Amino acid sequence: MTIRVRFAPSPTGYLHVGGARTALYNWLFARHSGGKFILRIEDTDRARSTEDAIRGIIQSMSWLGLDWDENLSRQTERLDVYAAKAAQLVEEGKAYYCYCTPEELKERRGASRLPGGAHGYDRRCRHLSVEEEAAHRADDRWPAIRLNSSDEGSTIIEDLVRGRVEFDNAELDDLIIMRPDGVPTYNFASVVDDIEMEITHVIRGEDHLPNTPRQSQIYTALGAAPPTFAHLSMILGPDKAPLSKRHGATSIEAFRDEGYLPEALINFLALLGWSWDDRTTLFSIEELIEKFTLDDVGKSPAVFDTQKLEWLNGHYIRELSTVELVKRLLYFWRGAGLLPEAEVDTETHARLVEIASICQERLVKLSDIVELTDFFFQPVRIDQEAAEKVLRKDGVAEMLNAARAKLETVEVWSRERIEQGLRDLAEELDEKPRKVFQPIRVAVSGRKVSPPLFESLEILGKEESLDRMAAAAEMIT
Ligand code: GLU
Ligand code: ZN
Repeated sequence: MTIRVRFAPSPTGYLHVGGARTALYNWLFARHSGGKFILRIEDTDRARSTEDAIRGIIQSMSWLGLDWDENLSRQTERLDVYAAKAAQLVEEGKAYYCYCTPEELKERRGASRLPGGAHGYDRRCRHLSVEEEAAHRADDRWPAIRLNSSDEGSTIIEDLVRGRVEFDNAELDDLIIMRPDGVPTYNFASVVDDIEMEITHVIRGEDHLPNTPRQSQIYTALGAAPPTFAHLSMILGPDKAPLSKRHGATSIEAFRDEGYLPEALINFLALLGWSWDDRTTLFSIEELIEKFTLDDVGKSPAVFDTQKLEWLNGHYIRELSTVELVKRLLYFWRGAGLLPEAEVDTETHARLVEIASICQERLVKLSDIVELTDFFFQPVRIDQEAAEKVLRKDGVAEMLNAARAKLETVEVWSRERIEQGLRDLAEELDEKPRKVFQPIRVAVSGRKVSPPLFESLEILGKEESLDRMAAAAEMIT
């Protein structure tokens, strides 16, 4: 048996953490087993589905590296298929037309003990006579189509994650499979597609577990065996409430824009419900493909731990070659207006590599690069607090001037020579080195925290560094 799985998002918004984890688990399962991974857009809810959302989902999937194997399929392009299947079920007596209007249904709801509980449908249209049907049609009523379901017994799902789950059939009413406007309901379209696409495993969020017995009945009506189900546990925020916008960014796009690497996010998402052992945290995509099985997917809710994500991100940033790091940082430098959109020339590129290499150790997110390095790209802007705390102190102007004079004598402008010169000066002045370095840092970078000082001075160049020191000294005298 070839394993075939699908990710079936409804394009009503961004791809968020939960959806991305579902996509990833399906993808890993397929890649691990040499099976196929299909992307199906469930866009039958026309009021809420948008082209933008479809583009966004595709973009996020591509950015994460989750490629799919067959042509992307869209349910709105297959409406005739669902209509034909529903008509076939009516013909076979497994489904029927229901002419009840929403108002009528509402009125009758709760009147008696109904299948499906108080919200159930009383099956009034199940046995309409030919005359009654004709009367409804003459009345211009457009019918929905409902599935005949039995009140007897129970429906059992052997879920790969949750184990055996039993549903009392009396709780399930005759569900609508086609709406009066000819659009299928989610449960019906999804099952018709899963059968046609020969899906072997349905891996999705736990929120869909209540749909599963209904879908199971649809499989039976359509004469097909249900696939194997695996329902993934919820994802909770750090406060143990279901993860939501309240907890900050949850869309994959937002994580990308904040400067998370896809490598880090993949590793992180993989661990939201799956584990290899109790110790290992770092998994490359290749290792995940090799190791991922549904047997190791846990039942308990996963907790979204931002610190872990940040830690992973820092790790993967440090793993990049400097050239690759620069490639990924361009987006952020450009986005902040520090670099033009145009392709960078060789000289600039060499400088960017230098800048990136002295910052690599300190980046948690790629976006950190903006604050850390803006002074390399534009005139320095001295931070108020840094000016007060570091510059506007007795003797600092003199110190800056002395440092300038010292650096003037440095012939070969290298980090080592710069450091040597400044350490010599500290000794001559009988000052702690930090007392000498800190005002220079603020003078050239504008901040109390910057990339390593000597390296920064080297990259800025002798003239620019000395000019900035002179300007700072002037500012405070
Ligand atoms: N369109 C459904 C959703 O986005 C898919 C559920 C399923 O995988 O069956 O939640
Ligand atoms: Zn009815």
